[in-house]
Amino acid sequence: MTYIHGFPRIGEKRELKFALEKYWNKEIDFDELESVAKELRVRHLNYQKEKIDFISINDFSYYDSMIDTIVMLGCEPKEYRDLDGIDRYFAMARGDKNHKALPMIKWLNTNYHYFVPQIEPNQEFSPNLDKIIKEYQEAKDLGITPKINIIGPVTFLSFSRGTKGNDPLDEIKAAVDAYIEILKTISKLDEKVTIQFDEPALVKDPTKKELEALKYAYERLPKVAKNIDIFVSTYFEHALEAVDILVDTEIKGIGLDFIYGAKNIEAIKKIANSDKLLVAGVVDGRNIWISDIDEKVKFLNSLEIDKDKVIVASSCSLLHVPYTLKYEEKMDKNIKSWLSFALEKLDEIKIIDKLYRNQSLDEEEQKLYEANIEANQTRKISTQIHNQEVQKRVQNLTLTQRDTNFKERLKIQHEILKYPILPTTTIGSFPQTKEVRKTRRDYKNGLISKDEYEKKIKEFIDYCIKVQEEIGLDILVHGEFERNDMVEYFAEFLEGVTFSQNGWVQSYGSRCVKPPIIFGDINRPKPMSVDWITYAQSKTKKIVKGMLTGPVTMINWSFVRDDLKREFVYKQMALAISDEIKDLQDAGIKIIQVDEAAFKEGYPLRSENKDEYERVTVESFKIATAVAKAKTQIHTHMCYSDFNDIMPAIDALDADVISIETARNGNRILEAFKTYDYQKEIGVGVYDIHSPRVPSVEEIEKEIEDRLKVFPPNRLWINPDCGLKTRKWEEVIPSLTNMVKATLNIRKRVIKL
Ligand code: GLN
Ligand code: ZN
Repeated sequence: MTYIHGFPRIGEKRELKFALEKYWNKEIDFDELESVAKELRVRHLNYQKEKIDFISINDFSYYDSMIDTIVMLGCEPKEYRDLDGIDRYFAMARGDKNHKALPMIKWLNTNYHYFVPQIEPNQEFSPNLDKIIKEYQEAKDLGITPKINIIGPVTFLSFSRGTKGNDPLDEIKAAVDAYIEILKTISKLDEKVTIQFDEPALVKDPTKKELEALKYAYERLPKVAKNIDIFVSTYFEHALEAVDILVDTEIKGIGLDFIYGAKNIEAIKKIANSDKLLVAGVVDGRNIWISDIDEKVKFLNSLEIDKDKVIVASSCSLLHVPYTLKYEEKMDKNIKSWLSFALEKLDEIKIIDKLYRNQSLDEEEQKLYEANIEANQTRKISTQIHNQEVQKRVQNLTLTQRDTNFKERLKIQHEILKYPILPTTTIGSFPQTKEVRKTRRDYKNGLISKDEYEKKIKEFIDYCIKVQEEIGLDILVHGEFERNDMVEYFAEFLEGVTFSQNGWVQSYGSRCVKPPIIFGDINRPKPMSVDWITYAQSKTKKIVKGMLTGPVTMINWSFVRDDLKREFVYKQMALAISDEIKDLQDAGIKIIQVDEAAFKEGYPLRSENKDEYERVTVESFKIATAVAKAKTQIHTHMCYSDFNDIMPAIDALDADVISIETARNGNRILEAFKTYDYQKEIGVGVYDIHSPRVPSVEEIEKEIEDRLKVFPPNRLWINPDCGLKTRKWEEVIPSLTNMVKATLNIRKRVIKL
């Protein structure tokens, strides 16, 4: 038997994205949108039909499955109740004139974002199954009896927020009652119905309360109707605590991830001794490499469990990988042979299942299997992947940290850089106007020459420098006009990294990302940013800060090879970045900022793995920055405000200056620094860049004063929360002008004291 936890929905040519955007722009009506959606659902079901036994419905969504679950449970927050139907749905997803959108958070440690349900004390639920019934019928019409994917009650509540400081999990009884109603209706859909309850919340160091809720829910749900089979699916980590509880319930099966939850192996015995089926997630659902089919079969054979109880599955929903390699015409043939997107994974699952059960493969499958064996072999030895020089460099690494301690460094830096107390700066990017984006696009499409392109970018830099000088900022930046994206820009320079044409993965709603693919040893053949930054420096007497993306963020936002321990991939990337830092330094750049926007979100789901993550990432950052001489000031930037449990790691990065976002949450972040004695320099964003609003001088003065209660003036920097690329010049200029004015006012006061 074969199983996947869900299929991507945006469409292999992002059809849903474009239809949604047209609908929002009122270019098409809802019927047209729905007809595109239906076509996609049908197409996706047909793709799976011959290969997968447990095909899902309700994995489709117009925006997000968590919002779908809100609608299914009928617990839309009150403020949206003036609307109904699809208008209410999109108001929760995107906001409108009268409504704010629901908050959005990353789905565990993926790049997919879900929308956070708002649960009141004594929340009422009123189930609505229209969507599920419609999609069920659609599948039946194709001759498919699908499983119904539903986010389980524990995960739903655990990922919700209480509207009045209440814990949504307190509503478990009412929620389970609603789920019982839902199951009653579903039981009437067919003679036999299969449901997958997604319960990934249970892989995140589950609390006692979550486990109790799990027990409460799954002792009841399987009892609702005899003709319903319930599978509980977990992914991204092990779920040992949940298994302990679930084996004693009447559910049909348990989904475990053996790719990212190796420890799940410890649950096999319990499952084998119970009457539960094991949905064995052995094909990586969130990375894009071919499976080693023989290895997978070997692994399955090694499990001490009756084969009849094993279902061969993806490790999670295929939502997190692109659709298909079919349209990758430009990709190197060898690299392509090492990749497997959603459609290709369906074949892998099918073949693994057949081999595991000693069934013969048909001709087509046999061909794919042989190609798989060959690709796995070439991958092990290909010189495209394996670069001896890089490997040697990592092995012989000796320069792993800076040679002076930060106190001495900062002393030396102050003598050279001579910036005042409360130095003002920005985080790097300046407005990416239409013209800026068009310039990059025209160059990429060959419409303008390299010379024309460079001339244009230099004009943008000239303007940016002039503006910053006029405003009176202390430390300037070049503005990042040459960059489309902070990771992609650098990745395009690196050997060992490639890009797909169509490898889109849904990030949220209609937004998709196309992460770089790190397939081999990483090498930086030539400087990536030096020309732009030195050009900017040549245009001013003030100091221009060089901007780079750090190794941890480069890795965390890419598809990373699975044939090398991640630690070494980080280290290779660190060396590539260190080469860039060295070149910038040699070119006379005195301050270099190494952005680590994705440092925090890369944290493992289980606290048992936290130390290892911190060891590896901190080490990589230090390797990257070790070439910086004492006189070169290293900055880093992180855009989030929840530092409470990671302060020692932040400190251990050993950056001379860190700038962080407050995300309108200044007090909380300052608390973290009150209890942790942070001795290096720091800029705690003084205004929110997500809003077009221009902050007043008084407002910013107040923000600075709050920070001065925690940090002394000679260690505090003044900067906005994050980069300014999404803002307009009309907003940026007055905002930064006010920031500088506020700083000057405070400086005068501080100096008088
Ligand atoms: N230097 C980058 C910028 O200003 C940082 C982006 C980020 O933190 N996400 O755009
Ligand atoms: Zn940021």
